Amino acid sequence: YADSAMYLAKRSGRRGFRFYSKELTIDAAKRLALESELRRAIERGELELHYQPKVSLCSNEVIGSEALLRWHRPDVGLVLPNEFIPVAEETGLIAELGKWVLREASRTAAEWNAEGSALHKVAVNLSARQFQFHDLAATVHGILLETGCRPQWLELEITESLLLEEDDAVLSTLSVFRSMGFSIAIDDFGTGYSALSYLVRFPIDTVKIDRTFIQKVMTDRRHAELVKAILSIARCLGQQVVAEGIETVEQAAFLQANGCQLAQGFLYGRPLPKSGMASLPRYLNSH
Ligand code: C2E
Ligand code: MG
Ligand code: MG
Ligand code: MG
Repeated sequence: YADSAMYLAKRSGRRGFRFYSKELTIDAAKRLALESELRRAIERGELELHYQPKVSLCSNEVIGSEALLRWHRPDVGLVLPNEFIPVAEETGLIAELGKWVLREASRTAAEWNAEGSALHKVAVNLSARQFQFHDLAATVHGILLETGCRPQWLELEITESLLLEEDDAVLSTLSVFRSMGFSIAIDDFGTGYSALSYLVRFPIDTVKIDRTFIQKVMTDRRHAELVKAILSIARCLGQQVVAEGIETVEQAAFLQANGCQLAQGFLYGRPLPKSGMASLPRYLNSH
Protein backbone atom coordinates (compact mmCIF):
# COMPACT_ATOMS: atom_id res chain seq x y z
CA TYR A 1 0.00 0.00 0.00
CA ALA A 2 2.96 2.31 0.42
CA ASP A 3 2.93 3.52 -3.18
CA SER A 4 -0.76 4.24 -3.19
CA ALA A 5 -0.48 6.03 0.13
CA MET A 6 2.26 8.17 -1.33
CA TYR A 7 0.09 8.92 -4.32
CA LEU A 8 -2.87 9.95 -2.19
CA ALA A 9 -0.66 11.92 0.16
CA LYS A 10 0.65 13.88 -2.79
CA ARG A 11 -2.80 14.50 -4.12
CA SER A 12 -4.16 15.71 -0.81
CA GLY A 13 -1.15 17.82 -0.06
CA ARG A 14 -2.32 20.90 -1.90
CA ARG A 15 -1.60 23.14 1.04
CA GLY A 16 1.94 21.95 1.54
CA PHE A 17 3.25 18.52 2.27
CA ARG A 18 1.94 16.09 4.83
CA PHE A 19 3.88 13.87 7.10
CA TYR A 20 3.85 10.24 6.33
CA SER A 21 2.46 8.26 9.17
CA LYS A 22 1.19 4.79 9.74
CA GLU A 23 -2.23 6.30 10.24
CA LEU A 24 -2.17 7.95 6.86
CA THR A 25 -1.16 4.66 5.26
CA ILE A 26 -4.18 2.93 6.78
CA ASP A 27 -6.40 5.82 5.78
CA ALA A 28 -5.09 5.73 2.27
CA ALA A 29 -5.63 2.00 2.02
CA LYS A 30 -9.21 2.43 3.18
CA ARG A 31 -9.75 5.18 0.65
CA LEU A 32 -8.40 3.07 -2.18
CA ALA A 33 -10.71 0.20 -1.27
CA LEU A 34 -13.59 2.66 -1.10
CA GLU A 35 -12.68 4.13 -4.45
CA SER A 36 -12.50 0.82 -6.27
CA GLU A 37 -15.75 -0.41 -4.74
CA LEU A 38 -17.47 2.85 -5.54
CA ARG A 39 -16.29 2.49 -9.11
CA ARG A 40 -18.33 -0.71 -9.38
CA ALA A 41 -21.28 0.41 -7.28
CA ILE A 42 -23.30 1.65 -10.23
CA GLU A 43 -23.04 -1.51 -12.34
CA ARG A 44 -23.77 -3.64 -9.30
CA GLY A 45 -26.90 -1.67 -8.54
CA GLU A 46 -25.78 -0.67 -5.05
CA LEU A 47 -26.89 2.94 -5.29
CA GLU A 48 -30.28 4.20 -4.27
CA LEU A 49 -31.96 7.57 -3.99
CA HIS A 50 -33.90 8.43 -0.88
CA TYR A 51 -36.35 11.33 -0.92
CA GLN A 52 -37.00 13.81 1.84
CA PRO A 53 -40.29 15.72 1.70
CA LYS A 54 -40.36 19.48 1.28
CA VAL A 55 -43.49 21.10 2.66
CA SER A 56 -45.28 24.41 2.47
CA LEU A 57 -44.92 25.99 5.92
CA CYS A 58 -48.43 27.40 5.97
CA SER A 59 -50.36 24.32 4.84
CA ASN A 60 -47.97 21.44 5.59
CA GLU A 61 -48.66 20.25 2.05
CA VAL A 62 -45.88 18.19 0.47
CA ILE A 63 -44.83 20.16 -2.59
CA GLY A 64 -41.75 18.21 -3.52
CA SER A 65 -38.73 16.38 -2.22
CA GLU A 66 -34.97 16.32 -2.28
CA ALA A 67 -33.20 13.30 -3.73
CA LEU A 68 -30.39 12.11 -1.46
CA LEU A 69 -27.91 9.48 -2.53
CA ARG A 70 -27.41 6.28 -0.55
CA TRP A 71 -24.93 3.48 -1.10
CA HIS A 72 -25.61 -0.08 0.05
CA ARG A 73 -22.00 -1.09 0.38
CA PRO A 74 -21.41 -4.84 0.58
CA ASP A 75 -20.30 -5.99 4.04
CA VAL A 76 -20.67 -2.45 5.39
CA GLY A 77 -24.31 -1.52 5.02
CA LEU A 78 -25.89 1.82 4.27
CA VAL A 79 -23.30 4.51 3.62
CA LEU A 80 -24.23 8.20 3.69
CA PRO A 81 -23.05 10.63 1.01
CA ASN A 82 -20.64 12.62 3.19
CA GLU A 83 -18.54 9.46 3.41
CA PHE A 84 -18.17 8.89 -0.32
CA ILE A 85 -19.12 12.00 -2.31
CA PRO A 86 -15.81 13.73 -1.43
CA VAL A 87 -13.87 10.70 -2.71
CA ALA A 88 -16.01 10.62 -5.84
CA GLU A 89 -15.26 14.31 -6.37
CA GLU A 90 -11.52 13.86 -5.96
CA THR A 91 -11.32 10.91 -8.29
CA GLY A 92 -13.65 12.27 -10.95
CA LEU A 93 -16.11 9.40 -10.39
CA ILE A 94 -18.64 12.08 -9.53
CA ALA A 95 -19.26 12.59 -13.25
CA GLU A 96 -20.69 9.10 -13.63
CA LEU A 97 -22.29 9.05 -10.20
CA GLY A 98 -23.93 12.42 -10.85
CA LYS A 99 -25.28 11.21 -14.17
CA TRP A 100 -26.78 8.17 -12.46
CA VAL A 101 -28.43 10.43 -9.87
CA LEU A 102 -29.87 12.75 -12.51
CA ARG A 103 -31.26 9.84 -14.54
CA GLU A 104 -32.81 8.14 -11.52
CA ALA A 105 -34.30 11.37 -10.14
CA SER A 106 -35.69 12.24 -13.59
CA ARG A 107 -37.37 8.85 -13.88
CA THR A 108 -38.93 9.26 -10.45
CA ALA A 109 -40.06 12.82 -11.13
CA ALA A 110 -41.62 11.71 -14.42
CA GLU A 111 -43.47 8.90 -12.64
CA TRP A 112 -44.76 11.01 -9.76
CA ASN A 113 -45.85 13.87 -11.97
CA ALA A 114 -47.60 11.58 -14.45
CA GLU A 115 -49.63 10.06 -11.62
CA GLY A 116 -50.60 13.07 -9.54
CA SER A 117 -52.43 16.28 -10.18
CA ALA A 118 -50.26 18.47 -7.93
CA LEU A 119 -46.75 19.32 -9.10
CA HIS A 120 -44.10 17.36 -7.26
CA LYS A 121 -40.68 18.85 -7.83
CA VAL A 122 -37.64 16.66 -7.16
CA ALA A 123 -34.49 18.51 -6.11
CA VAL A 124 -31.15 17.07 -7.22
CA ASN A 125 -27.78 17.96 -5.71
CA LEU A 126 -25.04 18.83 -8.18
CA SER A 127 -21.36 18.93 -7.28
CA ALA A 128 -19.26 21.80 -8.53
CA ARG A 129 -16.98 19.26 -10.20
CA GLN A 130 -19.79 17.97 -12.39
CA PHE A 131 -19.65 21.29 -14.22
CA GLN A 132 -16.03 20.64 -15.16
CA PHE A 133 -16.67 17.44 -17.06
CA HIS A 134 -18.09 17.26 -20.56
CA ASP A 135 -21.11 19.32 -21.44
CA LEU A 136 -23.37 19.02 -18.40
CA ALA A 137 -26.27 20.80 -20.11
CA ALA A 138 -26.14 18.39 -23.06
CA THR A 139 -26.00 15.40 -20.70
CA VAL A 140 -29.01 16.68 -18.79
CA HIS A 141 -30.89 17.33 -22.02
CA GLY A 142 -30.25 13.73 -23.11
CA ILE A 143 -31.52 12.41 -19.78
CA LEU A 144 -34.75 14.41 -20.11
CA LEU A 145 -35.40 12.93 -23.55
CA GLU A 146 -34.62 9.44 -22.31
CA THR A 147 -36.82 9.59 -19.20
CA GLY A 148 -39.68 11.80 -20.33
CA CYS A 149 -39.01 14.17 -17.45
CA ARG A 150 -39.78 17.87 -17.83
CA PRO A 151 -37.40 20.52 -16.49
CA GLN A 152 -40.29 21.97 -14.45
CA TRP A 153 -40.28 18.79 -12.40
CA LEU A 154 -36.69 19.19 -11.24
CA GLU A 155 -34.81 21.69 -9.15
CA LEU A 156 -31.02 21.77 -9.35
CA GLU A 157 -29.26 22.39 -6.02
CA ILE A 158 -25.82 23.89 -6.23
CA THR A 159 -23.47 25.12 -3.52
CA GLU A 160 -21.50 28.29 -3.14
CA SER A 161 -18.24 26.55 -3.96
CA LEU A 162 -19.45 26.45 -7.55
CA LEU A 163 -20.24 30.15 -7.66
CA LEU A 164 -16.97 30.96 -5.96
CA GLU A 165 -15.18 30.02 -9.14
CA GLU A 166 -16.92 32.91 -10.90
CA ASP A 167 -16.39 31.09 -14.07
CA ASP A 168 -18.11 32.26 -17.27
CA ALA A 169 -18.68 28.62 -18.19
CA VAL A 170 -20.55 28.03 -14.93
CA LEU A 171 -22.67 31.11 -15.42
CA SER A 172 -23.53 30.14 -18.97
CA THR A 173 -24.39 26.54 -18.00
CA LEU A 174 -26.66 27.84 -15.24
CA SER A 175 -28.30 30.22 -17.69
CA VAL A 176 -28.89 27.36 -20.13
CA PHE A 177 -30.51 25.32 -17.33
CA ARG A 178 -32.68 28.30 -16.45
CA SER A 179 -33.78 28.84 -20.03
CA MET A 180 -34.56 25.12 -20.37
CA GLY A 181 -37.04 25.58 -17.51
CA PHE A 182 -35.19 24.17 -14.50
CA SER A 183 -35.27 26.05 -11.25
CA ILE A 184 -31.99 26.55 -9.46
CA ALA A 185 -31.44 26.52 -5.71
CA ILE A 186 -28.44 27.62 -3.74
CA ASP A 187 -27.88 25.00 -1.03
CA ASP A 188 -26.49 25.42 2.49
CA PHE A 189 -26.77 29.17 2.18
CA GLY A 190 -24.96 31.11 4.86
CA THR A 191 -22.06 28.72 5.26
CA GLY A 192 -18.74 28.69 3.50
CA TYR A 193 -17.90 31.70 1.44
CA SER A 194 -21.39 33.18 1.21
CA ALA A 195 -21.38 36.35 -0.73
CA LEU A 196 -24.66 38.19 -1.05
CA SER A 197 -23.74 39.22 -4.57
CA TYR A 198 -24.14 35.59 -5.73
CA LEU A 199 -27.87 36.08 -5.26
CA VAL A 200 -27.95 38.75 -7.94
CA ARG A 201 -25.12 37.67 -10.21
CA PHE A 202 -26.37 34.15 -10.79
CA PRO A 203 -29.81 32.92 -11.85
CA ILE A 204 -31.05 31.69 -8.47
CA ASP A 205 -34.72 30.86 -7.84
CA THR A 206 -34.48 29.36 -4.38
CA VAL A 207 -32.31 29.93 -1.33
CA LYS A 208 -31.91 27.07 1.15
CA ILE A 209 -30.89 28.38 4.55
CA ASP A 210 -28.36 26.02 6.10
CA ARG A 211 -29.41 23.77 8.93
CA THR A 212 -26.79 25.20 11.30
CA PHE A 213 -28.68 28.52 11.30
CA ILE A 214 -32.09 26.93 11.70
CA GLN A 215 -30.85 24.92 14.68
CA LYS A 216 -30.03 28.11 16.56
CA VAL A 217 -33.00 30.38 15.83
CA MET A 218 -34.73 29.62 19.13
CA THR A 219 -31.66 29.83 21.34
CA ASP A 220 -29.48 32.56 19.85
CA ARG A 221 -30.92 35.98 19.07
CA ARG A 222 -28.18 36.86 16.61
CA HIS A 223 -28.81 33.76 14.54
CA ALA A 224 -32.52 34.55 14.58
CA GLU A 225 -31.81 38.07 13.27
CA LEU A 226 -29.53 36.73 10.57
CA VAL A 227 -32.20 34.30 9.37
CA LYS A 228 -34.74 37.15 9.30
CA ALA A 229 -32.32 39.23 7.24
CA ILE A 230 -31.78 36.41 4.72
CA LEU A 231 -35.56 36.00 4.42
CA SER A 232 -35.97 39.69 3.81
CA ILE A 233 -33.26 39.85 1.13
CA ALA A 234 -34.66 36.81 -0.67
CA ARG A 235 -38.16 38.31 -0.54
CA CYS A 236 -36.90 41.57 -2.10
CA LEU A 237 -35.15 39.63 -4.85
CA GLY A 238 -38.20 37.48 -5.54
CA GLN A 239 -36.51 34.29 -4.44
CA GLN A 240 -38.16 31.44 -2.60
CA VAL A 241 -36.69 30.27 0.69
CA VAL A 242 -36.45 26.74 2.04
CA ALA A 243 -35.44 26.27 5.67
CA GLU A 244 -33.30 23.13 5.98
CA GLY A 245 -33.20 20.83 8.96
CA ILE A 246 -36.33 21.90 10.83
CA GLU A 247 -36.67 19.62 13.83
CA THR A 248 -39.09 21.41 16.17
CA VAL A 249 -42.53 22.97 15.98
CA GLU A 250 -41.05 26.18 17.47
CA GLN A 251 -38.52 26.51 14.66
CA ALA A 252 -41.29 25.98 12.10
CA ALA A 253 -43.45 28.66 13.74
CA PHE A 254 -40.58 31.14 13.84
CA LEU A 255 -39.81 30.64 10.16
CA GLN A 256 -43.42 30.86 9.10
CA ALA A 257 -43.94 34.03 11.13
CA ASN A 258 -40.98 35.58 9.33
CA GLY A 259 -42.22 34.79 5.86
CA CYS A 260 -40.40 31.59 4.97
CA GLN A 261 -42.48 29.57 2.50
CA LEU A 262 -40.93 26.13 2.49
CA ALA A 263 -39.43 23.71 4.94
CA GLN A 264 -37.56 20.46 5.04
CA GLY A 265 -36.45 18.56 8.11
CA PHE A 266 -36.93 15.61 10.42
CA LEU A 267 -40.01 17.32 11.92
CA TYR A 268 -41.83 16.58 8.65
CA GLY A 269 -40.01 13.48 7.53
CA ARG A 270 -36.68 11.77 7.14
CA PRO A 271 -35.37 10.78 3.74
CA LEU A 272 -37.28 7.68 2.57
CA PRO A 273 -36.86 5.14 -0.20
CA LYS A 274 -38.97 5.88 -3.26
CA SER A 275 -41.79 3.54 -2.26
CA GLY A 276 -42.10 5.10 1.20
CA MET A 277 -42.18 8.57 -0.24
CA ALA A 278 -44.86 7.66 -2.75
CA SER A 279 -47.18 6.48 0.02
CA LEU A 280 -46.82 9.58 2.22
CA PRO A 281 -50.02 11.56 2.75
CA ARG A 282 -50.27 14.83 0.84
CA TYR A 283 -50.35 16.84 4.07
CA LEU A 284 -47.87 16.08 6.82
CA ASN A 285 -49.04 16.68 10.33
CA SER A 286 -46.13 18.12 12.27
CA HIS A 287 -47.97 18.99 15.48
P1 C2E B 1 -27.77 18.63 1.67
O1 C2E B 1 -27.99 18.74 0.21
O2 C2E B 1 -27.72 19.88 2.45
O3 C2E B 1 -28.93 17.66 2.19
C1 C2E B 1 -29.55 17.74 3.41
C2 C2E B 1 -28.93 16.80 4.44
O4 C2E B 1 -29.45 17.12 5.73
C3 C2E B 1 -29.26 15.33 4.21
O5 C2E B 1 -28.15 14.55 4.66
C4 C2E B 1 -30.47 15.13 5.13
O6 C2E B 1 -30.68 13.79 5.51
C5 C2E B 1 -30.06 15.99 6.30
N1 C2E B 1 -31.23 16.47 7.06
C6 C2E B 1 -32.45 16.81 6.58
N2 C2E B 1 -33.26 17.24 7.57
C7 C2E B 1 -32.55 17.17 8.71
C8 C2E B 1 -32.85 17.48 10.11
O7 C2E B 1 -33.95 17.91 10.46
N3 C2E B 1 -31.84 17.30 11.00
C9 C2E B 1 -30.63 16.81 10.64
N4 C2E B 1 -29.72 16.64 11.59
N5 C2E B 1 -30.30 16.52 9.34
C10 C2E B 1 -31.26 16.69 8.40
P2 C2E B 1 -27.49 13.41 3.77
O8 C2E B 1 -28.52 12.66 3.00
O9 C2E B 1 -26.55 12.65 4.65
O10 C2E B 1 -26.65 14.23 2.69
C11 C2E B 1 -25.54 15.02 3.04
C12 C2E B 1 -25.06 15.84 1.88
O11 C2E B 1 -24.52 15.01 0.84
C13 C2E B 1 -26.14 16.66 1.19
O12 C2E B 1 -26.41 17.82 1.95
C14 C2E B 1 -25.48 16.94 -0.14
O13 C2E B 1 -24.57 18.01 -0.05
C15 C2E B 1 -24.70 15.67 -0.38
N6 C2E B 1 -25.45 14.80 -1.34
C16 C2E B 1 -26.48 13.98 -1.09
N7 C2E B 1 -26.92 13.37 -2.22
C17 C2E B 1 -26.12 13.86 -3.21
C18 C2E B 1 -26.07 13.63 -4.64
O14 C2E B 1 -26.86 12.88 -5.24
N8 C2E B 1 -25.11 14.31 -5.33
C19 C2E B 1 -24.24 15.17 -4.72
N9 C2E B 1 -23.32 15.80 -5.48
N10 C2E B 1 -24.28 15.40 -3.41
C20 C2E B 1 -25.20 14.77 -2.65
MG1 MG C 1 -29.21 19.70 -1.02
MG1 MG D 1 -28.63 21.56 2.01
MG1 MG E 1 -26.94 21.46 4.52
